[in-house]
Amino acid sequence: MDSTISQLAQCFENLPGIGPRQARRFVYALLKKNDKFISDFTKLMLDIKKELIKCETCQCFFKNNKQNKNCKICRNPQRDKGVLLVVEKDIDLNNIESANSYNGLYYVLGGLVPPIGAKLPEEVRMKELFEKVKQMTMSKNLKEIILAFSATKEGENTEQYIKSILEPIVQKYPFKISLLGRGLSTGTELEYADRDTLKNALRRRD
Ligand SMILES: [Zn+2]
Repeated sequence: MDSTISQLAQCFENLPGIGPRQARRFVYALLKKNDKFISDFTKLMLDIKKELIKCETCQCFFKNNKQNKNCKICRNPQRDKGVLLVVEKDIDLNNIESANSYNGLYYVLGGLVPPIGAKLPEEVRMKELFEKVKQMTMSKNLKEIILAFSATKEGENTEQYIKSILEPIVQKYPFKISLLGRGLSTGTELEYADRDTLKNALRRRD
C-alpha cells in the first residue's frame, strides 16, 4: 500500500473505535472529496486544538475566550457546589447536561480503571480527584459525590477504586458517595444512554 495512504490510515486507527478496515475506508472516502471539503476539514482540526482548552477546575474542554480559566458550569453561581459528579469523559458530561436534571459540579476523570493486574493508565486523574475531594471537604460544604460511569466491568472497577481511595476522607467528613451505575442496565455505556435513562439513573442513584 502507498505509504501516504497507510500513514493516514494509521492516524484514523488512533481514534477510538476505529479498526484498520474502517480507517482505510475513511482514507478512500477522503480521496473522493473535493478540495474545499479537504481544506475545511483540515482547518477545523487545527482550529479545534486552538479554540478549546481544559477547564482548570473540572478538566472538561471548553471554548477559550482568553478571560476565563474555568468553564461555564464551574463559573455558574447557580450550580450546587456541594455535589460533585465524576464522569469518565467529556461526552458523558455533555450527555448528562443535556438530560437537564443535574445542577451540581463535575469532574472529568479522563479514563477508567482497567481489570485487576493492569496498570492504571496515565490519563486517569485519580490523584487529582483525591486532592480535589480533599480540598472540597475542607473549603466547601461537600454533601455528595456521584460516581457516574458506564455499567461495564471497567466502570465497576473505577467505582471500587475511587471508593477505596476516598475511604479515609469519608470517615472524617459527612458526605456520601452514591452510584449512578445501578440505575443503568448492565452493559450500558453512559455515552449512549438516552435522556430518560439518565434522568432515571440520577433520580434512582444510591
Ligand atoms: Zn469546569
